[in-house]
Amino acid sequence: MNRETHLEADHVVDLVHGLLEEPLRSELADHIARCESCAEVVRLRSAELELARSEAPAAVHRLPAPLRRRWPRYATWTGAAAAVLAMVLLWQFGASEPIEYRLPVANVLEPLRSDTGDIARLEAALAHYEAKRYTQAASTLQGSEFAKPMEALRRIYLASALTHADDPVGAIDVLASLDLAAIPEPWRGHGLCVSYVAYVHGDRNDDAAALLPQLTQREDRIGDIAREWARQR
Ligand SMILES: [Zn+2]
Repeated sequence: MNRETHLEADHVVDLVHGLLEEPLRSELADHIARCESCAEVVRLRSAELELARSEAPAAVHRLPAPLRRRWPRYATWTGAAAAVLAMVLLWQFGASEPIEYRLPVANVLEPLRSDTGDIARLEAALAHYEAKRYTQAASTLQGSEFAKPMEALRRIYLASALTHADDPVGAIDVLASLDLAAIPEPWRGHGLCVSYVAYVHGDRNDDAAALLPQLTQREDRIGDIAREWARQR
């Protein structure tokens, strides 16, 4: 989509129904983040949909129908500016349905650069991770441990890569070897998010439910993401 072009009506309808797919959804989210008039249109449509759903399910059908005649599994976009903001934050942070959590890769290694020779291997792994080559990222991180300061990072990235590579059970094993409470922020929070997503994908629903309140209480972006996860449960 051309950045100078505002959102098309059909796209707005699909967006509030949660029916748009990547990369279009991210492009539109970027535009909404910058364009107050499109954000307002999306807010209005979201509020309309939410109101219709709360009044009577039948009333939803009076609203413009999405292009694809299919309802989302979750009622995302439950109206109002807060929801729009939360979704834009989520998109920018990389979370989406199905639940996933992408670790940051920018500026991660700078503070560690003088530390050890392991940095090259972590750098290679992060390049795979950034390009969503999760199997290669995981195999680069598997095996030998790193020197002390980076070992926790190695395990958190490895667990995240394994989850994305559809091995949540392997990820849960890796995380079990990690004392997240002893890890400084923000990595403790990232580690908890990776754990939550691994539990969800590994069908460990009790563990996921037990962990979520720790995340939803946070006042940072992780808290925003976790509150969205809680809404979707
Ligand atoms: Zn616009």
